[in-house]
Amino acid sequence: MELITERSRIKTVAERWDAQYGPEFRSTNRGSSKETSEKLHALNLSKVSAATVSKIIGNDTWTRLVCDECLTPVTKVAVLYHPGDGTAAFEICESCATKVKTLFKTGVAK
Ligand SMILES: [Zn+2]
Repeated sequence: MELITERSRIKTVAERWDAQYGPEFRSTNRGSSKETSEKLHALNLSKVSAATVSKIIGNDTWTRLVCDECLTPVTKVAVLYHPGDGTAAFEICESCATKVKTLFKTGVAK
């Protein structure tokens, strides 16, 4: 289990982009992935907005966080991982996690 925030997604966006498109940097449907890499690396990733990152990339999938329970876009989620392969299994927002905690405290089992 791990906390992921919009800022932590932004801070890692350049290295994640390079991991996906580098080191050969093929073209994308928006041009050169190398140019995008250079633009991302030139940003102050501690301060730049998600909107600016999304504008450079052309979509918001690299910064967007959505709760898998309520399907609401949020700025932080707890990620639960598959124990077998370590891939993300579920991302849950603070509000839904609070509901889970209440369920354990006061819920009645089916
Ligand atoms: Zn939620």
